[in-house]
Parts: sequence; structure tokens; C-alpha cells
Amino acid sequence: MTAANRVKLAPGLYFLATPIGTARDITLRALDILASADVLVAEDTRALRRLMDIHGIALEGRSVVAYHDHSKATHRDRLLAQLEEGQSMAYASEAGTPLIADPGYQLGRAASEAGHLVTSAPGPSAVLAALSISGLPTDSFFFAGFAPNSTGQRQAYYRTLVDIPGTLVFYESPNRTAKALRDMEAIFGGDRQAAMARELTKKFEEVQRGTVSELAQNLSEQTIKGEVVLLVARGTQDSFDDADIEKMLAEELEGASVKDAVAQVVQDTGLPRRRIYQLALELNKRN
Ligand code: SAM
Repeated sequence: MTAANRVKLAPGLYFLATPIGTARDITLRALDILASADVLVAEDTRALRRLMDIHGIALEGRSVVAYHDHSKATHRDRLLAQLEEGQSMAYASEAGTPLIADPGYQLGRAASEAGHLVTSAPGPSAVLAALSISGLPTDSFFFAGFAPNSTGQRQAYYRTLVDIPGTLVFYESPNRTAKALRDMEAIFGGDRQAAMARELTKKFEEVQRGTVSELAQNLSEQTIKGEVVLLVARGTQDSFDDADIEKMLAEELEGASVKDAVAQVVQDTGLPRRRIYQLALELNKRN
């Protein structure tokens, strides 16, 4: 029995999001497309076949063709020729959303430039999964992908991001995570709020939250395994003076405890908790 229906697909390229852990995190529409596409293309053909197996989708004579952005241009041309013939083509990366720190960009660009339909079956991506549970502001964020490997280049990369007015989201490898946090401490300062989200949707899912310094300290003492996303809140907004902050605190204090009001204003401003707490105490004394 399968949850997928065979449907008539319009010719074109379908970017499918696939699970980042739990296999059932796939949409019914993505399964329909896998069951129905004329051509199946994947970054990792075995991973896609395994996923289709789990969901009971038969190949029915189709093969799964490998493609990533380093594939030869002739390979891409072959896929474009199939689109030209009016075929429907599903593309999946190894996990998550194609093109998000994954292949698919050149294929998508070439297909749209040639005038073909390029569409998506949206779904899991570690960026949004991590952001939504990080406890950091989500109103504005910047996906910074993987930082470079060497300390010098990594710090130089972080320096370009210091003034971004939103939460920064990085993909990281587990054995570089502690070093990355030390470099963040050096460049962003230790007081920014941060989070480390690991093994999302999997058995050992874990989120650690704290300042950059606290996380750097904790993680330097642990061996981390699995897949990691690091997030750092925006920098201090110098445009907030004490009067602005007191006004924000006063509003929050109408319906919340001092602790919760302080936490909210820290989150909204990105300012150090110490300063906000001090102002809350002064405000309390005056009222
Ligand atoms: N395209 C994928 C997406 O949409 O999330 C990302 C692919 S990228 C090659 C792999 C990186 O994504 C990992 O090194 C890790 O930083 C992050 N990642 C993927 N799955 C994850 C998970 N289950 N938990 C935490 N991070 C994950």
C-alpha cells in the first residue's frame, strides 16, 4: 500500500524537498510526483531509491539518474533535452530542500533559461527547522551556509556578517562546531544569544541555547556527533537608548513578570541581558 497517487504532471522540472531525518517528513504531493514523474534525478540515487522503497513507490521501469552541480555539462544537456521532449522530471538532493547548500542551482537556472517550467514540492529544510526551535528572533534571518574551513577564512567570513540585521543561520560539521563558536566569540562578541541545533527530527535531536560564550564553553567540553546548525542573534542595535528600552520594558511589564519582560526585550533588541535587567530594576524602583 502506498500513500502516493499517480497523477498527470505537466512537463518541467520539479524540485522535491525530502526528509532531513524522519522518513515520514515528506509531503503527499512529493510522493505523488515521485510516483508520476517520467524522469527521476537525484544527488544520491541510493538515498532516493531507499526513500521510495520506504513509501512503497515502485520505479515501474524508470531508473534514478545521478546529477549534482559538478556533473559534466553534457550530462546536464541530456537532462535539458529530456525536458525539451516534454518530460516531467523530479529532482531530489540527498536530504532537505535542493539548492539549499545542495546541488540543483545550475540545472534549475538552465531549465528556466530554456523556458521550461521549474517548480517545487516544498518541505523540510534544516534552516527553517532549526530557526523555528532556536528561541532566536525569526522576523528576519540570513542563511549563511557553511563557513570556510580555516580559522582565518572563517573569521574573515564572519566579519562580513557582523552588521546583518537578522538572525544568522550556519550549517556546520560536528567536529568544527566548537572551533566555529570560538571564532564567533572573537568576531561577534560573546554576548549575542545563540543556539546549536543537532540531529533535527532524529532520535538524538538536541538544541542548546545560550550566549555565544556559553555555547563555546559547553561545546568545547563535549564531543558532538551528527548534523549541526548554528544560529546567532543579530548584533546590538546601538539605536536603542535607555528611554527606548524603558518604554519597551514598561509595555512588557503590563502583562508579564520582570523575568519574562526582560527576556522579551533582550530578544527584541539583541542587547545584553545585564543592561536590560538593570534598567528593569531601575524602572521598578521608580514606579
Ligand atoms: N539541503 C539541505 C537542507 O535543506 O537543509 C541541507 C544540505 S547540507 C549538504 C547538509 C547540512 O545541513 C548539514 O551539514 C547540517 O549542517 C544541516 N542539516 C541537515 N540535516 C540536518 C539535521 N537533521 N539536523 C541538523 N542539521 C542538519
